[in-house]
Amino acid sequence: MTVAATDRLIAPHGGRLVDRMGERPDDLDTLDAVELTARELSDLDMIAAGALSPLEGFMGRADYERVVEEMHLVNGLPWGMPVCLAVEATPAGDRVALTDAGRPVAVLEVEELFAYDKEREAELCFRTTDEAHPGVARLYDQKPRYLAGRVTVFERPEPLFPELALDPADTRRIFAERGWKRIVGFQTRNPIHRAHEYLTKVALETVDGLLVHPLVGETKSDDVPVDVRVDCYEALLSGYYPTDRVLLSAFPAAMRYAGPREAIWHAICRKNYGCSHFIVGRDHAGVGDYYGSYDAQLIFDEFAPHELDIEPMFFEHTFWCNVCGSMASTKSCPHGAEDRVFLSGTKVRELLGQGEVPPVEFTRPEVAEVLIEAYRGQE
Ligand SMILES: [Zn+2]
Repeated sequence: MTVAATDRLIAPHGGRLVDRMGERPDDLDTLDAVELTARELSDLDMIAAGALSPLEGFMGRADYERVVEEMHLVNGLPWGMPVCLAVEATPAGDRVALTDAGRPVAVLEVEELFAYDKEREAELCFRTTDEAHPGVARLYDQKPRYLAGRVTVFERPEPLFPELALDPADTRRIFAERGWKRIVGFQTRNPIHRAHEYLTKVALETVDGLLVHPLVGETKSDDVPVDVRVDCYEALLSGYYPTDRVLLSAFPAAMRYAGPREAIWHAICRKNYGCSHFIVGRDHAGVGDYYGSYDAQLIFDEFAPHELDIEPMFFEHTFWCNVCGSMASTKSCPHGAEDRVFLSGTKVRELLGQGEVPPVEFTRPEVAEVLIEAYRGQE
């Protein structure tokens, strides 16, 4: 692969893909240990692989404050969400071991320890201080101070799906090998039904390739389990997408459920993976009714044109229309609700739970089969 080929792709955020993987140090036994949560481990792994470029570690106070207040890093780059490591007390020494279930996986060079205001972070980042919000609940459960510093990761977690584990350097190499320049990224934490199949294909019509990038990090317990979702994606892609135009890979982030702010964060991460475009539907990364349907699209207007570089592609809810005889949205179909095949999430779960295949206008039978099988397994 020549340098020139990957150079045709969008530049990483900040211009350079960060690589914070390194050697296991000899003095690990002498270091204080900080145990990471599932969310912090996800963040650590993404820092190591450059998915959070230009971050080289957990944020210090200046970056944290500017991100919380203004959605920018101190260096002026846009940024959506704090990426911080919460600890109880000041560790001894100028380096600490970061551990996963007691096993050291990385070293952090201690730069700063600072107190933070959980309610303020919740209000500004999640737009609510309600502890029923899963992201806010997790924030309130955190330890009281943030420990900042550059990290060096020497042991990465076993990927849940080794065949889908591609770092930004990998996806960029694959895009370049395939001769793609313009790539649209699609974030999802749900099975893909016809509505989302349609918008990924509408987006794909305008670019060279599609990165289907399901989030496989921690989600709420009532989201569809990740192994079931991956089976759904594989069934759908193998039957209904041209394999030379689509790449399926796992996005290792944990959900924050921060709606609009998370849409910005998701877009910047996908830019690091080499995507020039990013799909933002209604209610992106939302939960409950904390966010307006279009908030995750409107927030992109808070940045100067081209400041993010990656181009958001906004979509309405889409559906099958019996009169149009095709998939459509309220933007493209003039007919009424009675002509549209729309099922609520509750209705879909009800059908699947009874072993019934939803209408083919709503979901592909191959996807329905995977889901029915999964529901059966639960009984
Ligand atoms: Zn219609």
